[in-house]
Amino acid sequence: MTPVGSETVCIAAMIDDNHTSFDQALARLPTLRQRLEVAPPASETRGAASVFTRALRVVSGNVALIGDAAASVDAIAGLGVTMGLRQALVVARSLKDGSLESYERAFPGLIRTAHAMTSFMLLLKRRRWLKRIVLHSMASRPWIANQLLRLHGGEALPPVNGQPEAFPVEIR
Ligand SMILES: Cc1cc2nc3c(=O)[nH]c(=O)nc-3n(C[C@H](O)[C@H](O)[C@H](O)COP(=O)(O)OP(=O)(O)OC[C@H]3O[C@@H](n4cnc5c(N)ncnc54)[C@H](O)[C@@H]3O)c2cc1C
Repeated sequence: MTPVGSETVCIAAMIDDNHTSFDQALARLPTLRQRLEVAPPASETRGAASVFTRALRVVSGNVALIGDAAASVDAIAGLGVTMGLRQALVVARSLKDGSLESYERAFPGLIRTAHAMTSFMLLLKRRRWLKRIVLHSMASRPWIANQLLRLHGGEALPPVNGQPEAFPVEIR
């Protein structure tokens, strides 16, 4: 659920089969559905494909691709806007330096963490036993959840025991 105005929220249901409708997905969340019953819909139901994509090249001459045009991750991660803004910052710096080539070189590093985190989240969705272990670990050791959130949000990780690279969770 994302606020999109002072009195409007966007409800997105992420569905990974071709048969479930938005209303059927909403029916699985009775408390939310009940609260929405009193709210008039602001639009009809819309759909969007949510996939991993990555352009082979993001710069050609004086054209640079950013945002979903350059790369996208599954919407489950909630990282698309962050990735686009990061790319925009690097493009701005590259323009200032007079060459977009530095953006092309920096690009793989700009999307690496988002791709790894999204792959990890989708892996958890497919492997229930792993999801249970991870959720249990995060509940019993909140610092793991905090570190993962920091990594997810792209914050620089704080040094652990004076070792900036040391991080207890390795994501492949
Ligand atoms: C269900 C869902 C939930 C998501 N949740 C999150 C989230 O919680 N957090 C997050 O960070 N990201 C989320 N994302 C991803 C995020 O929405 C995208 O990464 C982001 O919107 C990409 O921005 P963009 O400007 O690159 O592209 P877009 O937002 O797609 O903008 C492209 C614009 O170009 C317009 N356009 C297209 N073709 C033409 C044309 N020929 N001429 C003129 N205009 C054109 C389109 O109408 C559109 O307005 C979600 C995505 C989905 C599908």
